[in-house]
Amino acid sequence: MRLSRYYVPTLKESPADAEVISHKLLLRAGMIRKLTSGIYCYLPLGLRSINKVSQIVREEMSRAGALEVLLPMVQPASLWQETGRWDYYGKELLRFNDRHDRDYCLGPTHEEVITDLVRGETRSYKQLPLNLYQIQTKFRDEIRPRFGLMRGREFIMKDGYSFDRDEKGAEESYRAMFEAYKKTFARIGLRFKPVQADSGAIGGDFSHEFMVLAKTGEDTLASCTACEFAANLEKARVTVPEGEDMTRADCPTLERVAAADARTIDKACAALGTSPDKFIKALLLVVDGDRPVAALVRGDRELNEVKLRNLVGGNDIEFADAAVIRRLTGASGEFAGPVGLAEDIPMYADNELRLATDWTARDNAPDTLLRHLSLGRDCRIDKFADLRTIEPSDPCPECGGAIEFTEGIEVGHVFKLGLKYSAKMDATFLDENGDSKPMVMGCYGIGVSRIVAAAIEQNNDENGCCFPPSIAPYEVCLISLAGADEDVAAKAEELYANITDMGVDVAFDERGERPGVKFAEADLVGYPMQLVLGGKSFEKGIIEAKDRKTSEKTELPLDGFAEAFAAWRAEVWSRWGLEL
Ligand code: ATP
Ligand code: MG
Repeated sequence: MRLSRYYVPTLKESPADAEVISHKLLLRAGMIRKLTSGIYCYLPLGLRSINKVSQIVREEMSRAGALEVLLPMVQPASLWQETGRWDYYGKELLRFNDRHDRDYCLGPTHEEVITDLVRGETRSYKQLPLNLYQIQTKFRDEIRPRFGLMRGREFIMKDGYSFDRDEKGAEESYRAMFEAYKKTFARIGLRFKPVQADSGAIGGDFSHEFMVLAKTGEDTLASCTACEFAANLEKARVTVPEGEDMTRADCPTLERVAAADARTIDKACAALGTSPDKFIKALLLVVDGDRPVAALVRGDRELNEVKLRNLVGGNDIEFADAAVIRRLTGASGEFAGPVGLAEDIPMYADNELRLATDWTARDNAPDTLLRHLSLGRDCRIDKFADLRTIEPSDPCPECGGAIEFTEGIEVGHVFKLGLKYSAKMDATFLDENGDSKPMVMGCYGIGVSRIVAAAIEQNNDENGCCFPPSIAPYEVCLISLAGADEDVAAKAEELYANITDMGVDVAFDERGERPGVKFAEADLVGYPMQLVLGGKSFEKGIIEAKDRKTSEKTELPLDGFAEAFAAWRAEVWSRWGLEL
């Protein structure tokens, strides 16, 4: 590719709405442009990087036995009604009508479509297992699209789906995909970690997310410093120390204390002369808009809504607002207390509350606090469960080691779906005995466009992107400083042809720009290898080579260039831990 004929509209300054480095650099290096909120045009350089990611994904999917398909982006509501997701998927699902007033949506994911396809074509156990995937533009009307390609509304995803005869087969498919994902992300050159995850709105039995470790990640993961354990905060189990059940232990009589100013837990604790770890927060939530539940956690802890939702079932869980709290408590306050809530509100308490008694808390009556509260005696608990979010001071739930928190960008997600879709959509097959059985499913996503952003988040410096060679728009930038020197110009042409013939993609900067401009642009785009031809070194029969990531400079002889370049290229790849 000749840069003189290419389209790289670079920017000197980053646009004001770009907050994270990948967004700034993708815009500045002329790789993407915003069309409207969360929707981007991919320019030639950006698209090349996306296509390289897609190619690695395809190769690894194919190696793992998955077959590529391409499903429609427009999906009829009727399929989503079959699984019930039309009603509860929420506003991320962009819905619209056709000229006959029929309901449709733009695909945010394709479980329904693929299940519909497979149920129509698959009759016998002999056709299973089956693993189909696609690489396609998805649309999700994200509430807060931001960070450029990291959280768009329109974005490119690889989504794959497996269909098996039984649990055992489904587990094998899941494991094969898990391994394929590890290979894929390693080949892309990302530093990543698979973590246990919640299966969210897509549902299913268990799931892992693949996280790229980067400070700008929107997810936090808890990982053990001693063993392999790593989990998304939503999912990470909290283990409480062994200890006696204190719910029935002796406790002085419950007292009510008036406190005029106790809006925060700290103020309530100050009024009671106690501390938040001796205080119980009673939180009222509403499941699916109409089912109230109460959750109790220690005053210094955070309720994990995902854990609570998994415990109580349902799709959507929200904190009750002040008006709902008043209605549910029958009192005029804006906070709830654990004592005296209506019988039909289930009461769940975090596991660690079982290990002590003589608590403090709010009362349902306004400006009133409780002292000497015994959960066994003064208030009903329907169930103790793991309800809070893990903290760095908690032990690893698997080995007891120390936990650390890291920020991560989710680039992939594997789910074991089980029968969730096949049962609802009647996707069955006949087994060896002629009995009809639902297929056991799995689903597997990779954020293809997000990966380009994540790779930049992990690899950049003050001058621009430092792309891993496996997904760089071009691996090499050959910069000719020929000016009016025809010998240099001719040699540059020759090298350009050589490198191209070697099957290496090279951006050839033969423009009449000043050297400084060319260097700055090569650094900004982040071609992993830069070759500079001209000046004194040319006279000495040398071309200068720079590794973008390490800034290490090497001199390659013009005589015997091909071998010297091949060896240097292999070195650059291996510095990335990548195989050529
Ligand atoms: P998130 O929690 O970040 O919203 P998700 O759990 O909704 O992700 P999945 O439904 O598992 O995502 O989608 C598969 C993959 O698609 C994700 O792992 C992620 O890499 C990518 N992805 C999801 N939403 C977006 C988005 N809005 N923009 C870019 N990529 C996305
Ligand atoms: Mg999402």
